[in-house]
Amino acid sequence: MPDSDTPVTKVSQVSPDLIRKYIDGCHILHYYDLVDAYGHLSVRLSPSTFLMSRYMAPALVAWPEDLVVYKVEDGEPVDPNAPRGFSERFIHSEIYKAYPDVHATVHSHSLTVIPFSISSQPLSACFHMAGFLGCRVPVWDMDTVYTDDDHRSMLVSSTRFGMSLAQALGGAGEGGRGEPRYPVVLMRGHGMVVTADRIEMVVLRSIYTAQNARVQQSAIGLGGAVKLFTEKEARDTGGTTAQGAVKPWPLWKREVENSTLYQNLA
Ligand SMILES: [Zn+2]
Repeated sequence: MPDSDTPVTKVSQVSPDLIRKYIDGCHILHYYDLVDAYGHLSVRLSPSTFLMSRYMAPALVAWPEDLVVYKVEDGEPVDPNAPRGFSERFIHSEIYKAYPDVHATVHSHSLTVIPFSISSQPLSACFHMAGFLGCRVPVWDMDTVYTDDDHRSMLVSSTRFGMSLAQALGGAGEGGRGEPRYPVVLMRGHGMVVTADRIEMVVLRSIYTAQNARVQQSAIGLGGAVKLFTEKEARDTGGTTAQGAVKPWPLWKREVENSTLYQNLA
């Protein structure tokens, strides 16, 4: 883990391995249709800083010059002359602020997942690779946050909106751990955020959240009764997936390396 008590404030201080992994993660999320020109991945660098790309499509992130170090405190870049960033970077800053054990975050506009953000049908674990979702993925409704004066663009473009979204992850886990109660939360009519302790796991959770949504929606479409996982089945399958996260990464990495669309020049 890159996390330490010493804040990392410059991209040049970040290990080349982590930069390469971050860029691979951006490419894999695009390869698996989790992001298009929009959506983003971040990784924590220290208790008070995190890394994200500048304002660009994740598939096109290629080298360290595309990356910016941000402050957890307010979601602003450490370097005031940094290139333009994402308007929704406050999703990431507020999640890192609320959950010390979250080290990687994805924001996705996955079309597979969004129907569950506007339906009374909850997204629920029903596929053995996605037990981490539990029996009901929470939906954060931005309508509950807006004041009369707010521009209702549905974008998480301030620390106030980001803080509310972070709270929807359910608060820190039992025993004082700094991870959220729910690793995934849907955003009504917008997408989702996914959290984990490292890049590989947040990518895995993103991919299998979308796959679980596809399986669940397909099963509902069959018209019969749908048997979702019990709490115990979700917990036990989620634990198994967590142990196996190292297996798919080399495959995903090779897939993006073999596509001429993606360049990792770090
Ligand atoms: Zn968004």
